[in-house]
Amino acid sequence: MMRSPKHDQRDENTQRQAKPDARAVRRRRRRAATCSALPTPHRPWLSVPSVTRGWPKTRSSASWTIGHAYSTLRHRGSCRETRLTTLMVMVNLGCMKYFALCLLFLSGCVAAPPPSDANQSLTVAEIAQNHPGLAETPPGEARLHEIRNGVWVHVAVREVGGVMYPANGLVVRDGNELILVDTAWGDKNTEALLTALKTEIGLPVRSAIAMHFHDDCVEGMDVLDAAGVATYGTPLTKRLAKAEGNQIPRQSIDGLAEPGDAVRFGPMEIFYPGPAHSVDNLVVYVPDSGVLFGGCAVYEMDRKTPGYIGDADLLAWSSSMQRLKTKYPQTKIVVPGHGLPGGLELLDHTSDVVNSHRDSALER
Ligand SMILES: [Zn+2]
Repeated sequence: MMRSPKHDQRDENTQRQAKPDARAVRRRRRRAATCSALPTPHRPWLSVPSVTRGWPKTRSSASWTIGHAYSTLRHRGSCRETRLTTLMVMVNLGCMKYFALCLLFLSGCVAAPPPSDANQSLTVAEIAQNHPGLAETPPGEARLHEIRNGVWVHVAVREVGGVMYPANGLVVRDGNELILVDTAWGDKNTEALLTALKTEIGLPVRSAIAMHFHDDCVEGMDVLDAAGVATYGTPLTKRLAKAEGNQIPRQSIDGLAEPGDAVRFGPMEIFYPGPAHSVDNLVVYVPDSGVLFGGCAVYEMDRKTPGYIGDADLLAWSSSMQRLKTKYPQTKIVVPGHGLPGGLELLDHTSDVVNSHRDSALER
C-alpha cells in the first residue's frame, strides 16, 4: 500500500507522543509531587474536612478563606487539574459559611421580636388599672402584664386556708433572653408561667432569682431547674429555704450580705435593703425603666394591716424602707410582692403600716 504524506505525519506525531522529552517528564513528576504534598487532594469534597480542621479561630472566615485560597493557588500554580476545583471549593466554603451566618442571624431575628415603645409612657394609674387581679387569674394559671418595654409583672394566685391570694413577680428582658424574679408560687403555677412566657413573649428564660426564702418566691424552682433555667439565691436564702423545707435555688449570688449591698445582674440591680418582711429579703431595680420590684418587703396601698410577719423584723423594717428610698429616688414604678403596683409612696406606706402595727402591739 502506498503511504500518503498524511500517514507519514501521523506516524511522526505518534512517535513524538510515545517518546516524550526528558524535560516534560521531569515537569510532570514535579507537579505530581507538589500536589500529593498538599493537604487537599484532587477531590474537592475530600478537602472540606481537612480545611475545616485547619481553620484558625483567630482569623475571620473571610480573610482566612481568601488567604487560604491564594496560598493554595500559589502552591498549585502549575497544576492545571487542581486550579479550578480548588477555586470552586474555596468559593463554596466561603458561601457556605456566610449562608450559615445569615441563617443564624435570621433565626435570631425571628426568635427575638424587637421591643415596642407602646408601654414606655404608661402612668402608674394605668398600670394599676390593668394589673391582672383575682378575677383574671384562676389558680394554676399565670398572667403577664408588660409595664415598661421589656419589663413584665407576672401574677399567679394561690389558695391559703380557703382564701385566694395573688402574688407578683417580675420578668426582665436581657437581650434575646429573659430573667425571672421569683417563681409563680408553686410548681403548677410556675409551669403555667413558663408556658405563658413561651407563647406571649417567645424568648427563653435564662435565669431566675429568689427574693427571699418563702414559698411564694421559691416554690417552682425545681420546675425551673428541670426546664434548664439557672436558679439563684443568696447563701442566706438558700440556707433558710432548706431549713424551712422549701425548694432551694441551685446557684448562689454573693455580695448581698450587708444592708445597702447591691450587685448588677444583667440589666437589673439586686439590692439588699436590710431585714424587713424577712431577714434575707432582696429587691430588684431596673435602671432603664425605673421599675423597682419590692417583693414582700413592700405593701400595696390597699393593705392596711401587715400580712404574714412570722419571720419579719418589725424594728428594722422602716429603716430598710428608708435605705431603699435613698438608694433609688428616681424610681417610677414600685411593684409590691402582692397586689397593685404604685409609686415610691408605697415605701412610706409600708413603714406606716408596720410601725402602727408594732406600736399597737407594744401597747397591748
Ligand atoms: Zn414572704
